Amino acid sequence: MDLQIKIADAGKSFQLYASRLANLNITTLHDLLYHLPFRYDDFTTITPINKLKIGETSTVIGDVTYVSPQSSVFKKLQKIKVSDGSGEIEVTWFNQPFLLKTIKVGNTIALSGRVERFGKTVSLTAPEHEIVTATNPGIHTGRLVPIYPETKGLSSKWLRRQIYTLLQKNSHEFKEFLPETLLEKHHLLHLSDALHQIHFPEKLEQVKAARQRLAFDELLLLQLQALQRKSEWKTKTHGNPFTHENYKNDIDALVKSLPFTLTNAQKNVLEDIFSDVQKTEPMNRLVQGDVGSGKTIVAAIAMYLSHVNGFQSVIMAPTEILAGQHYAAVLKLLSPFGVQIALATGSKKDNLEEFDIMVGTHAVLSEKINYTRVGLVVIDEQQRFGVQQRAMLRNKGKNPHVLTMTATPIPRTIALTMYGDLDLSLINEMPKGRKQIKTWLVPESKRASSYDWMRKQVKDTDSQIFIICPFIEESENMVTIKAAQKEFERLSTHIFPDLRLGLLHGKLKPKEKDLVLKEFKEKKYDILVATPVVEVGIDIPNATVIVIEAAERFGLAQLHQLRGRVGRGDKQSYCLLFTTAHAPQTYRRLKSLETIYNGAALAELDLQLRGPGEMYGTMQSGVNMFKIATLSDTALIVQAKQDAEQIFSHLSEYTMITEKLKRENDQQIAPD
Ligand code: ADP
Ligand code: MG
Repeated sequence: MDLQIKIADAGKSFQLYASRLANLNITTLHDLLYHLPFRYDDFTTITPINKLKIGETSTVIGDVTYVSPQSSVFKKLQKIKVSDGSGEIEVTWFNQPFLLKTIKVGNTIALSGRVERFGKTVSLTAPEHEIVTATNPGIHTGRLVPIYPETKGLSSKWLRRQIYTLLQKNSHEFKEFLPETLLEKHHLLHLSDALHQIHFPEKLEQVKAARQRLAFDELLLLQLQALQRKSEWKTKTHGNPFTHENYKNDIDALVKSLPFTLTNAQKNVLEDIFSDVQKTEPMNRLVQGDVGSGKTIVAAIAMYLSHVNGFQSVIMAPTEILAGQHYAAVLKLLSPFGVQIALATGSKKDNLEEFDIMVGTHAVLSEKINYTRVGLVVIDEQQRFGVQQRAMLRNKGKNPHVLTMTATPIPRTIALTMYGDLDLSLINEMPKGRKQIKTWLVPESKRASSYDWMRKQVKDTDSQIFIICPFIEESENMVTIKAAQKEFERLSTHIFPDLRLGLLHGKLKPKEKDLVLKEFKEKKYDILVATPVVEVGIDIPNATVIVIEAAERFGLAQLHQLRGRVGRGDKQSYCLLFTTAHAPQTYRRLKSLETIYNGAALAELDLQLRGPGEMYGTMQSGVNMFKIATLSDTALIVQAKQDAEQIFSHLSEYTMITEKLKRENDQQIAPD
């Protein structure tokens, strides 16, 4: 089977699940294959039945000696007995009558679950089970069992089965595209082995080697893409130079109208931009600046410059909320200067004919928008977009200048390696008057008094509060949302019945999200309970307290980005990190947030403290720009860069890589 085939076309067993898989960004069989486990349950030890201990989670394998009849009495309770030669054990499930249809006396069955005692009988209760045959050695029990990011209606068990089958049936499809010499040089696994081992390892060490291979692929391809773009860029000498001579007067007038003075860092970045855009070669610049450092205004000024030079501009943000916020900010700032601003998102489309600045989500890529003279393209939170989406945007004009922005604290060396085709500017200074966000690590024993303090903040200082619920699974699934709903109810009824609470999570419709945020902005709520996906850039200056539950589950850079939701106005702001973790190194790691306020420094520290083996939790913060590799794979990044450069100069000789690269480029066209 062709792995690039769309899920919807991949046969009956998939069709039904296409939309659920899409929730996990899986639209092709290839995507499914690269949906990697984020941990493994160790069910490797098979215990003889006579050695089972009450209270332990164990795996047994044996023959079924008894199956309770399928009578109405047994609708509620299903019972079988299993014997392995050392002894016999009772196994019970509740409300799963269909099990009795599939399990037969004489089957060999593997079971993983908790050993319990009911009166005199020892029993395995509601275990994972699996009938074992010569052709089905068991994938859910009796081994290292992969656990995947899930979504509503798609369990790890289902994903495991599909991926297992895919691996069995298509081994010959995982064409090796790296030359043998390269594999040997870096001691890399073959692609097919890597894919098998990452999903179904026999030992945990195999995961490491598999991940190394797949991370290398990712890095190599990314760098080849960067080299490709760079060489294409070089051929585009005919950009749109901004040649308006008196632009300084226009810009001065705009800057004077601001309610604040620009920081020196903002001024320097603007100087970089001004000098770029006057050239015939199009600008290609990345602005990196911590949350709250004021990147939006820099973009707005650049777009105004584009306007006075007679060009349109487009700014694309990753979410509706951010796009709406940018729209409001740009409108307020530039409409007094006669600039026409339009908004395009999935749910809102302004008049798309006449505009000077188009603000929106990836809806700005729509064919329906009448781009006539685009001179500048701005991409906010650029790591959230695929290469191809970025390319599509810059193709909206004739070689427009491109400004990309990110709050991701990438160490400079890595940024230069990864984005070899970009020029880099840093906003390394916060606006004046910003008070440092007082950060406290709060032990469980102080929870009650913290709630009292929060109430007092609301009542005495008219402040608003974010409460961020724990980070439970990699992708936001029903578990996370249910936990948030529960926490919302608990807080509303038991803790803050006298305050007004709102709830925000990723599965709300864009309109509902907008409404909740709008109402929070209008101070209709005192407290907003939110899941960690609460959008990176939201700007609510009156919110001065952020509480983060189960802080130990987040990376430091992520916590820092979340903390950046407050401290946007001139009032003193606070960040309360709740944790029940007692391990000294966890405590020390979190404690560093009380004294370090620099995103890049925190990112580095996290790398040192958590180490490259860390597999959890950078995905949703936008901190991780890779799918498989991590920023801590520094050596691999450097290696991949060297190889990419060598390969690129002889690319035509590497047919396998070229094909892979082409498929990869095609893949990245996001569905609209
Ligand atoms: P980010 O860099 O995270 O995108 P924003 O552009 O959203 O940050 O800016 C955060 C807030 O700081 C906004 O409310 C913005 O108006 C304000 N701001 C930007 N620049 C300055 C400045 N030089 N002085 C004071 N406030 C500023
Ligand atoms: Mg921003």
